[in-house]
Amino acid sequence: MIKLPEAVKAYFPYASVRPHQDRFIGTVYEAVKEQRSALIEGSNGLGKTISALSACLPIAAEKDLKILYVARTHRQHERVIEELKAVCRKQQVSGVSLRGRNQMCLNTFAAKNASDARSLMEICELLKAKDRCPYHRAPEDQTYEYLQLQHHIATHPCKASEIQRICRKKGICPYELVKASLPDVTVIALSYLYVFDPVIRAAFFKNLDSQLQKTILIVDEAHNLPETAIEIASSSLSLFVLRQAELEASKYENKDVAAFINFFRKEVEKLTEKVSHEEIISPEAILEIIQKQGCISNPRDFFEHMHEVGSSVRRSLLAEGKNPRSYIHGMSEFLLRWLETIDDDSYINVASKYTTREKVKTAKLEIVALDPAKVTEPVFSAAYANVIMSGTLQPLEAYAKLTKLPENTVQCVLPSPFPKEHVLPIVCLGVTTAMEKRTPEMYRAIIKRITEVVQNTPANTGIFAASFDVLNALIAEGLEHALDKPLFYEQRGMSSKANEKMVAEFKACGKGGGAVFLGVQGGRTSEGVDFPGNEMNSVIIVGVPYAEPTPRVKAQIEYYEKCFPKLGREYGYVLPAMKKAVQAAGRPIRTLEDRGAIVFLDYRFATNYCRSFLPSWINSGLKVLPCRDEVLAREIRAFFNL
Ligand code: SF4
Repeated sequence: MIKLPEAVKAYFPYASVRPHQDRFIGTVYEAVKEQRSALIEGSNGLGKTISALSACLPIAAEKDLKILYVARTHRQHERVIEELKAVCRKQQVSGVSLRGRNQMCLNTFAAKNASDARSLMEICELLKAKDRCPYHRAPEDQTYEYLQLQHHIATHPCKASEIQRICRKKGICPYELVKASLPDVTVIALSYLYVFDPVIRAAFFKNLDSQLQKTILIVDEAHNLPETAIEIASSSLSLFVLRQAELEASKYENKDVAAFINFFRKEVEKLTEKVSHEEIISPEAILEIIQKQGCISNPRDFFEHMHEVGSSVRRSLLAEGKNPRSYIHGMSEFLLRWLETIDDDSYINVASKYTTREKVKTAKLEIVALDPAKVTEPVFSAAYANVIMSGTLQPLEAYAKLTKLPENTVQCVLPSPFPKEHVLPIVCLGVTTAMEKRTPEMYRAIIKRITEVVQNTPANTGIFAASFDVLNALIAEGLEHALDKPLFYEQRGMSSKANEKMVAEFKACGKGGGAVFLGVQGGRTSEGVDFPGNEMNSVIIVGVPYAEPTPRVKAQIEYYEKCFPKLGREYGYVLPAMKKAVQAAGRPIRTLEDRGAIVFLDYRFATNYCRSFLPSWINSGLKVLPCRDEVLAREIRAFFNL
C-alpha cells in the first residue's frame, strides 16, 4: 500500500515507491496545490521525473494549466515522455518533447543556408510565404492524415524523435506539426532557453496560445540554472564580426556605417592590444571615444540607424534567396545593449583575448551579466508555481537568494535512497592542486594514487581534473604510462561529436578489462553523461575546481558581496566549484543498484568548510586516508571484494 495523496494515485504509474519518493511527491503536491513553489534536492535514483509529473498532473487537470518541464538534454526530454507513457496506463495525458526548428527542419536548402536559429526562422518564413517548402502544409492543404497526426500529438505522449520519423516518411514538416499541436498539449518537455530567454519565450508563448501565469514550471537539473541565466543575459562582439560588418557595409555602399565600423574596429584593436587575457573596461569611456573621436554626437540614434541598415541588408539577402545574416545588425544589437546596461551595476564590460578553434588569437568586447536573478525572477514570479529540483542544490537558502525564488517557496532536502554500502567516499590527504603546490612531484604523487585506484577497480575508472591545466600536467607527468588500462582523455576545443565517440568507446571497455577516462570537472562529460554499472566503477576527483581569479570572477564575488554581505566569496567562488566537483563525483552512482568508489585527491575536501558543501550521501560516510602507499589500494580492493 503506497502512501500518496489520492489525486496523485490516479497518475502515479508504479506499484511501489522508492525510498523517500513519497515524501518528494507529497512535498511538491502540497506546495503546488497552494500555488507555492518547491525547491527540492533529491539524489539520482529517487525517480524525480515521475515524482514531479505525478504530483503536478492532477493540479494541472483541475486548474487547466500546462506543465513546462525544462531540462538540458534531449535524452532528459525523452525521459519525460517515457514516464508520461507509463502514466497513460492509468490516465490519458498528452505530452511532447520539443526540439528547435534547426533540429526538426527537413528542408535541406533551409538547413544548409541558415547559420543560426534566427536565420533559419527567416528562411523558413520566406519559403512558406512563397510556397516553396514541400514539407509545409498551409491550412487549406491539410489532409485528413495530417489532421489525424495533429490530433494524435494533442492527445498522447509523443517524443520528438518519433514525430520526426513519422513526418520524414510522410513528407510533412515535423516542426510545424508540433507547433500547431502545442495549444492542446498538457506537458511540454523543452530546453531552458524557451522559458528563460525573454526573446525566445515571447515567440514560444505565442505559439502556445497561453501565458506563464497558466503554467506549472518544473526545472530539472536546476543547479545549472544560475550559470545558464548569466549566459543568456551576457553578449559579446568579436573582431571577426567587426571585420565582416565592415565588409558588409562597403558591399551595400553604406558609407557612414562603413566609416564608423572601420573607426570602431581600430579602436577595439588598440584597446585589446595590451590585454593579455581580460580586463574590465569603462563603458562610458568607449562611448566617449565614439562621441569625440568617432564624431557621433548621438550614439543611440546612430546605433538605431545601424540597426535599420542591418534589417534592410537582411531583407535584401532574403529576397535573393540567401542566408539573411547581417553582421551590421548583430553589431548594432550589441551596441544598443551596451547603452541599455551602462548604468546597471549587475553588468560589467570586458575586453578579452581568446584563441579560436582554428588556433587564431583574437579579441572581443563583452557585456557580462553578474546577476542570474535578472533572468530567473521574472519567470519564477509569473508562473503559477515552480518546482525546482536537482541532486545538488545545497545550500538551498543560497540557491533561493541567487535566483530570487518567491518568498513562500517550500524548501526540502531528501535523504539519499542509495544503500550506504553501495558507495565508498574517500579523501586522500597529502595531495592537492592548490596553485602554489602544483609541482612535478605533486603531480607524480597524484598519479601514484590514481594507479592504486585503477589497478583495484574491476572495470572502468573516471578521473575528473580541476582544469585542463591539471589534466595536461597529469599527461605530461606520465599518467598514460603509469596505467595498465587504456586511457581516453578530453582535449580543449574537442568537438562534441568526437567527445561522444570517445565516451562510447570508453563505456564499451566496461564490458571487458576496463579503461580510464580523463576529463575536466564542469566539462560536458562530468555533468551531462551517466555511467551506470561497469561503465564507471570508480571516480577520482583531482583537485577543487576553483575558477581562475580573473577580473570577471572577482567582479562576480564583489557583486554578490554587495547583495549578500559576507557571502560574496561563497556564492561567487566556492559554490560553483563545489557544484562541479559534486556533479563529477556522482557520475558512477546513477541507479539504486550501482556501486561506486568516489575518491577525492585533494586534502581540501577533508576540511569542514568544503565538507559542508558535499551532499549528505557523500559526506556522512566520508573516509579520510593518510598519504601512505597502498592504504588507498587496500580500501578500494576491499570495497570491490577483489
Ligand atoms: S516549413 Fe519546416 S521543413 Fe520547411 S523550411 Fe520551415 S522548418 Fe524547414
